[in-house]
Amino acid sequence: MVRRTKIVATVGPACDSEAMLKSLIECGVNVFRLNFSHGSAQHHMEVGERIRKVSSEIGTSVATLVDLQGPKIRIARFQAGEITLKNGASFILDAEMDESAGDQHAVGLAYKELPNDCMAGDTLLLNDGLIELLVERVEGSAVHCRVVLGGVLSDKKGLNRKGGGLTAKALTDKDIEDIRTAAEMDVDYVALSFPRDAADVEEARNLYRSAGGNGGIVAKIERAEAVADDATLDAIILASDGVMVARGDLAVEIGDAELVGVQKHITWRARHLNRFVITATQMMESMINNPQPTRAEISDVANAVLDGTDAVMLSAETATGQFPEATVQAMHRIIMGAERSPQMRDLFKQDDHAPVKIDESIAAAAMYVANRLPGVKAIIAMTETGATPMMMSRIRSGLPIFAFTPHAACQRRLAVYRGIRTVNFDSASIPPIKVNQQVVDALVEQSVLVNGDKVILTKGDFVNVNGGTNTLKIVEVGREIL
Ligand code: PGA
Ligand code: MN
Repeated sequence: MVRRTKIVATVGPACDSEAMLKSLIECGVNVFRLNFSHGSAQHHMEVGERIRKVSSEIGTSVATLVDLQGPKIRIARFQAGEITLKNGASFILDAEMDESAGDQHAVGLAYKELPNDCMAGDTLLLNDGLIELLVERVEGSAVHCRVVLGGVLSDKKGLNRKGGGLTAKALTDKDIEDIRTAAEMDVDYVALSFPRDAADVEEARNLYRSAGGNGGIVAKIERAEAVADDATLDAIILASDGVMVARGDLAVEIGDAELVGVQKHITWRARHLNRFVITATQMMESMINNPQPTRAEISDVANAVLDGTDAVMLSAETATGQFPEATVQAMHRIIMGAERSPQMRDLFKQDDHAPVKIDESIAAAAMYVANRLPGVKAIIAMTETGATPMMMSRIRSGLPIFAFTPHAACQRRLAVYRGIRTVNFDSASIPPIKVNQQVVDALVEQSVLVNGDKVILTKGDFVNVNGGTNTLKIVEVGREIL
């Protein structure tokens, strides 16, 4: 059995050498995430080239995803680097205070809009929700707070308003610059941090396209506004190629009690709307320092798989952790176990989505057959853009979907989709009458298929045409295939 659910690993000092990148691909990484919240553009460009070099050496298609930093909604700095806030103390966040003058009583703000964005009665969360402040009053540039949940607070910690509502734009000047870098690097995906609505996603896509970028856009769902109502969430999903359930910030904004329900809802909506979904943050957190995951982490990864996520993501576990390889291996093992479980099979037949286009109809028909006709062992989609296999992989089945494409970029882009494997194949160089036989033979050679197996083939009447898939054929291995 081959793993269907994909693994995204964040690159950082613990794994950015050629040897480690290579080893992580061999352990099972399908997508590398370059986190532009840290490091220089120059360094990311070097790492991007390293990933390409190493993956072509091993002959595996690996996608690269640039993750934009997004708005820095943060406090400024303290004279002494950090302070300890006591429960019940008063504390002031002041937009006009000197940015390095913070002390026990007050601190400046990197996010100057805060006094306009909050009012008495609001809850502010600092440092990923570890510190909680209640706003008592706003006076000019100063937000006067009472400490509800104290703790150590250090320089430049993140700031969220419970329930959302901070007006910061999703795209900063740095993000716009980084979008140009991503276009120049020819990466496969750009992830947008903190989009509020579909317009934010469209703006990022337009900037990326005008910079010459061809990759897909991933919207990170991590703001209360983005999940406030179904229309907003659906519009964000449709404006993107895929979404990330960015649980770190999302949990702070909507409260931890809401997180799991919202995660499952986003996963379901993304698949339903023909988009992919990545489940992110703290999936194997304890493995930053330990060689084995906790039971809770095992359960978290497995449940995301059972719910239908396309990919699960590692952050600090691979970027700065002590055991990047063991973490990827453990994740691989847990995914395989979840995919083998009987619960998984119960969920197979979710193929009631009504198609609206020809290629989408072929994809749906192929999956209808795949889930019902006995003896089918694989689906083969001959594709230019990857659109047909992408749509196929939205519908559950236990069968591998093989995308045969002449384009390396298409192969890389498909790396994030659940259940899809890719084969480099140029049908234009082969007499049309021989193409079907050759693609089936290629999978026989890889020992995927044996005589007697049935295979579903999809293709278009013309090669090199985008969105042209209009044919479905069911063939049997061992017989002559035309
Ligand atoms: P981040 O995004 O790691 O860039 O913050 C993921 C998240 O918020 O969960
Ligand atoms: Mn985030």
